[in-house]
Amino acid sequence: MTGIVVVGAGQAGASLAARVRALGYDGSVTLIGEEPTPPYQRPPLSKGYLLGDLDLERLYLRASSFWKENEIDLKLSAPVKSIDRSARTVLADGEPIPYGKLALTMGSSPRRMPVAAGGDLRGVYTIRTLADVDAMASEFQSGRKLLVIGGGYLGLEVAAVGVKLGLEITLIEMAPRILQRVAAPPTSDYFRELHCSHGVNILENTEIERLTGDVRVSGAELSNGITVPTDFVIVAIGVTPKTGIAEEAGLEIENGIRTDSHGRTSDPNIWSAGECASFPYKGRRLRLECVGNAIDQAELVARNMLGGSESYKAKPWFWSDQYDVKLQIAGLNTGYDRIARRKGDNDRSMSVWYYRGGRLLAVDAINDPRAYMAGKRIIDAAQTVAPEHVMDLRKIPKLCWHTP
Ligand SMILES: Cc1cc2nc3c(=O)[nH]c(=O)nc-3n(C[C@H](O)[C@H](O)[C@H](O)COP(=O)(O)OP(=O)(O)OC[C@H]3O[C@@H](n4cnc5c(N)ncnc54)[C@H](O)[C@@H]3O)c2cc1C
Repeated sequence: MTGIVVVGAGQAGASLAARVRALGYDGSVTLIGEEPTPPYQRPPLSKGYLLGDLDLERLYLRASSFWKENEIDLKLSAPVKSIDRSARTVLADGEPIPYGKLALTMGSSPRRMPVAAGGDLRGVYTIRTLADVDAMASEFQSGRKLLVIGGGYLGLEVAAVGVKLGLEITLIEMAPRILQRVAAPPTSDYFRELHCSHGVNILENTEIERLTGDVRVSGAELSNGITVPTDFVIVAIGVTPKTGIAEEAGLEIENGIRTDSHGRTSDPNIWSAGECASFPYKGRRLRLECVGNAIDQAELVARNMLGGSESYKAKPWFWSDQYDVKLQIAGLNTGYDRIARRKGDNDRSMSVWYYRGGRLLAVDAINDPRAYMAGKRIIDAAQTVAPEHVMDLRKIPKLCWHTP
């Protein structure tokens, strides 16, 4: 075969390229990225890196020598424009690049405010790439006003960084409560209180009518008739999977690039992993936006590209850091019909346990790593613990409390 080509040099692409080499594949491996930077981790972009606590070097997923040492041809600043499936080539700049097997790991694009609503004014940012964060860094000056649009984890993390840097923050959420899409009311309540106690002005059930300003943003007109003045805006209203070149090449798309349980797309020579890929999960189709999934799925696809036939069994986990609070999430709470709440060891720690039909689906553990560990082990082992028992550690199987 003519080698493995990976399009998208982010978390999943880097994991996949490294894994095929680690598995002993000795053909050519080409990793193509549109960004100018070698593969890096994104979570610190809304945490330590935005705060100025973390150097660029610490963001890189691998030492700069890794790619050469492993004979992985890393092509940067090279957006792939098209895939020719019959010729088995991809086109970036210059000559078409041939592939025997192709992996698409192109991640997602942040949703933006429409231009008609002021989305193109200067001072309006999204946060997905290192370049995005570098571009907004000089705006984070103490005493300035920041408007965050979107009360999901990303928006809340940005707000927490802003507070630490002395900014005055207003956060707008169109749903009746922050985190509504991803968490039960007790988790939303916890984070609302946390942010309010740090002076963040959270407006729920509120929409942005339009951003105002002359060339540069200076305010936002809200659905409740109020106008909020601001110095800059960060839009954190979710992402859309990057499927453009896959769609144009005729691959099946269904909430991302449609793959089977092995990570193979509708073309047997093309595979996909990470945020741009959707896969079968418990009778439905799922696309996940977290580091754990990007790595696990990419490594599984690497094995399958080399002849394996493993099915992907996603074990979702996620974390968020805000102020001195660490949230850890195990499992997926979609479709929950009951929750149980467990108080942690102190006033600032607690966990929310999600159930469907009496079976544990997920746990949000706030400043409570032991609850996270226990929940994760129970969920990964496809076991459960009765909701009325989560308050009592002794009722949770002993093995769950040991760290590995
Ligand atoms: C600010 C921020 C904070 C986050 N915090 C957390 C967290 O706390 N915990 C957590 O689990 N997850 C977090 N995430 C999510 C996590 O980073 C992503 O789920 C993960 O990076 C997905 O990996 P990926 O490889 O699918 O996509 P990406 O890492 O986005 O990589 C995709 C790469 O493909 C490139 N690309 C796209 N199209 C092309 C093309 N045509 N040609 C060439 N290259 C292309 C893109 O430029 C990008 O570099 C965060 C994400 C962001 C943005």
